[in-house]
Amino acid sequence: MSEHNYDPLVQTGITPSLETPQTYWHSTHRCKSQPSLSQQHTCNYLVIGGGYTGLSAAITLAEHGKDVTLIDSHQPGFGCAGRNAGFILSGSGRLSLSAIEDKWGKAIAQGMSNEFEAAVSLLRNRIDQYDMQVDLATGPYVKLAHSTKHARQLLKSAAMAQDNYGIPFTPLTQGTVESRFGIEGMFGGVEVSGACLHPLKLVDEYTKVATSAGANLFYNTPALSLSEPTQKNAPSML
Ligand SMILES: Cc1cc2nc3c(=O)[nH]c(=O)nc-3n(C[C@H](O)[C@H](O)[C@H](O)COP(=O)(O)OP(=O)(O)OC[C@H]3O[C@@H](n4cnc5c(N)ncnc54)[C@H](O)[C@@H]3O)c2cc1C
Repeated sequence: MSEHNYDPLVQTGITPSLETPQTYWHSTHRCKSQPSLSQQHTCNYLVIGGGYTGLSAAITLAEHGKDVTLIDSHQPGFGCAGRNAGFILSGSGRLSLSAIEDKWGKAIAQGMSNEFEAAVSLLRNRIDQYDMQVDLATGPYVKLAHSTKHARQLLKSAAMAQDNYGIPFTPLTQGTVESRFGIEGMFGGVEVSGACLHPLKLVDEYTKVATSAGANLFYNTPALSLSEPTQKNAPSML
């Protein structure tokens, strides 16, 4: 596998020499480059990884007045934050709530549904609160069926999510899909609420908010090893 095709799921080492992926997002937006850490530094909270997860954690900590530093091995948007589809949806993208319920039971599915909804609310609230310029486009989000069997599955799953978890949907017939979207050869589908944005613009806006809130951000700064804190409340980092 070439360095260009770095896949975090199969590679274990990370080095700042890995190239930024060639995605549509990277070709339409260049994230602001950030400084690297070049000297001894201490902090009370260290966040490793400056994708959405790390940036969101840094924002929350900084908003609560905590002394937080974030490091990332690359420049902003190197990871999945620069490789995803940009959809804001209440779901995992892999298993439907009915599949989750079948696998792990209703309580787990309800807990995950609550987390999906909370994550969407957190993001939407932050976009509003900080007036983030992320090319936000509000849905609906449409799932199309490529066979009659798939259409039945989509409908069943959407009806279950509506009945058990209060997530509304609108069924779409084959005729509606053709007349509304001009797409032929589909077998109907379902429409749910959703939105999308430019993932790298979100990275830049999150970076801006985290910095303004007082977090220290350093990129091209990989975590190479972790060790026990040497002093109370002052974890060592590099
Ligand atoms: C093809 C695809 C499509 C997707 N579509 C969507 C979608 O439409 N909507 C949606 O909500 N989600 C989508 N996702 C999921 C979403 O992109 C991820 O859930 C999200 O980006 C994860 O954020 P993260 O911060 O955890 O990881 P990342 O964004 O990957 O960030 C991890 C960061 O950690 C850094 N790092 C790694 N190791 C080290 C180290 N040792 N030291 C320092 N830094 C390190 C990396 O450089 C990277 O910047 C998609 C994912 C993929 C792959």
